[in-house]
Amino acid sequence: MRRVYMDNNATTPVHPEVLEAMMPFFQDQFGNASSIHWAGREVKKYLDEAREKVAGLMNADPEEIVFTGCGTESDNMAIKGVAFTHKDKGRHIITSKVEHHAILHTCQFMEKTGYEITHLSVDREGMIDLEELRRAIRPDTVLITIMFANNETGTIFPVKEIGEIAREKGVIFHTDAVQAVGKIPVDLKKLPVDILSLSGHKLNTPKGIGAQFIRQGTRLSPLIHGGAQERNRRAGTENIPYIIGLGKACEIAQRDFQKRHKHLRGLRDRLQEGILRTIPHVEFNGHPTKRLPNTLNMSFLYVEGESLLLNLDLEGIAVSSGSACTSGSLDPSHVLLAMGKSPLLAQSALRFSLGWANTEEEVDYVLEVLPRVINRLRAISPLYQKHKNEKE
Ligand code: PLP
Repeated sequence: MRRVYMDNNATTPVHPEVLEAMMPFFQDQFGNASSIHWAGREVKKYLDEAREKVAGLMNADPEEIVFTGCGTESDNMAIKGVAFTHKDKGRHIITSKVEHHAILHTCQFMEKTGYEITHLSVDREGMIDLEELRRAIRPDTVLITIMFANNETGTIFPVKEIGEIAREKGVIFHTDAVQAVGKIPVDLKKLPVDILSLSGHKLNTPKGIGAQFIRQGTRLSPLIHGGAQERNRRAGTENIPYIIGLGKACEIAQRDFQKRHKHLRGLRDRLQEGILRTIPHVEFNGHPTKRLPNTLNMSFLYVEGESLLLNLDLEGIAVSSGSACTSGSLDPSHVLLAMGKSPLLAQSALRFSLGWANTEEEVDYVLEVLPRVINRLRAISPLYQKHKNEKE
């Protein structure tokens, strides 16, 4: 059976150059980066190089990069680390309703420990209101945590403006940039961001490596205590092969940025136009322009998203009906509900997230299969029959 993978916001395949770069660190280069003998010193050199490459992709300083186990760990570290260090200032955190569960569930946990959380709303395009943010800031606000780009719709948030408001009010600003880094420009010399989280496996590394940018002078306590690794920011012997992989992935993302951006956008637009041309009763979810180049979220009315997903899977097409962490649950997406979409519309949503390896031919295959599957599902949908009867 033909296989087409269009779920790159869930995870990405490992880039062959990334795997190649990692290989020596499973065998010959096995030293502990903290050891002072030759085996450790050599590995330490490569560790430093990887840090430079990660920093380079975002125009940060290498000293501002801390390696972590994943995006979720980085998000936890930002929220808990800032909250703990600044607890004397206050116990109020601002976030948005459309964050990933790595943020929302960490905030829920903080609520149980006595913190107050304000969840900013979003409009129908998934965008926050900067005036609402301004109004939400209080003297006891210790952290604003708002994502760079949404994983379900691809909507890109006004990170620069959020950071400016945070600076003006003296509040630390963290952004979950797991879906943004490598896909859109992230220049930390220009953006007033204090802490930024990223994840390797959205960037063609294996799963289980992440990083945190912590601007010099930003105070937050570590999540994991122990040795002095990562300048005391994250204890534990470094996962060298994966760190090397992340360094390589960031180097490639920087090198191929323009080419990938153009390629992804072209494919995404071809897919979007094809769907709108061939399938009736479709609603677009997300921001029409301020959007990741690889992401397309659409609701196919009168069809249940999970059934659509399973039927596409039978044809070899891998897409998603929301974020990977919530699939399997039949709850409609919290992101689409927050955007004011009805539960029915939210339940009929599909997310296509393209990767650099996708081709025009794959997009055309999806455009050939999708109308057929939707027609079949609509033919047995009581809701669609009702809609047709009402029209007649
Ligand atoms: N934040 C966002 C926006 C994500 O999309 C994801 C993964 O889907 C995460 C955080 C979690 O990253 P990880 O899977 O590396 O823990």
